[in-house]
Amino acid sequence: MNNIVVIGSCNIDLTVLANKRPKAGETFLGEGLNTSPGGKGANQAVAAAKLGAHVTMVGCIGQDTYGDMMLKNLKQYGIDTTYLVRRDTVPTGTAHITLAEGDNSIIVILGANATVDEAVVDNAWPAIAKADLVLLQNEIPLATIGYAITRCADANIPVLLNPAPAASLNSAWLDKVTYLTPNEHELSALYPGVSQEEVLRTVKPQLLITLGKRGVGYNNKGTLSIVPGFTVTPVDTTGAGDTFNGAFAAAIVRGETMEQAIRYGNAAAALSIQKLGAQEGMPFEDEVATFMK
Ligand code: ATP
Repeated sequence: MNNIVVIGSCNIDLTVLANKRPKAGETFLGEGLNTSPGGKGANQAVAAAKLGAHVTMVGCIGQDTYGDMMLKNLKQYGIDTTYLVRRDTVPTGTAHITLAEGDNSIIVILGANATVDEAVVDNAWPAIAKADLVLLQNEIPLATIGYAITRCADANIPVLLNPAPAASLNSAWLDKVTYLTPNEHELSALYPGVSQEEVLRTVKPQLLITLGKRGVGYNNKGTLSIVPGFTVTPVDTTGAGDTFNGAFAAAIVRGETMEQAIRYGNAAAALSIQKLGAQEGMPFEDEVATFMK
């Protein structure tokens, strides 16, 4: 029990720091550029690996320097990259982030992430078949998410779907998921026009709604129980959701209860937002243990 397989996105985040945001047609000099590994799939893989899980990353990257950077980074955290496929014809995915005036605007170029197809899942089946939990997010083609959910359900392999970024998904797929972890906005994209009470009563997977600093609400026998967040002063909230998902998954495969695993995820996420950078800010096991004492 400790095997997590992430089927998801790998991006290189290119963050431009500037004093203001350019208007259409405008050019000016920025303050700096940060290049760092990201993508919800890779982020959640790193979060779980830093917390002691044995993690395999399944996805696609390009045959380019960003692909090399991604591989090196995943390996540095001990993540198995055997089933990360390198594509010749498309670049590694990139997120183009402008950080200005205290806020960010982002354009994502999917690149190789758009080529994560059924064959990639089938190819990785030797690892997936041994998984205690499979993690999925919405940054690869939705048809592949549906295929992976269905194939895992048929083989009785538990699946956690973090439905981010928000998208509408086939309800037959959602019913086969073990854990569903939307934020409030993503929840309403999944179940439009349905009240939270009704969702809690009718939804089949174990629902965990991330509520920012308020913590996480979960479906406790048909009612919403809240596991409160930890009170901290945030420095950079990028990747809070990814840290929560990776840490929750690491705790679940170790055999912790729902409530314990949520509290562990809240602690890891609270630690991560006190540091700059998504992956660098994610805590190691001993840091979370000390923080939770
Ligand atoms: P993001 O897209 O920024 O990664 P998200 O919208 O997916 O985040 P949130 O609900 O904002 O997810 O945050 C995920 C978890 O991180 C929360 O459930 C909580 O445990 C923790 N968290 C987020 N913000 C704070 C905060 N200000 N203080 C303490 N914990 C926080």
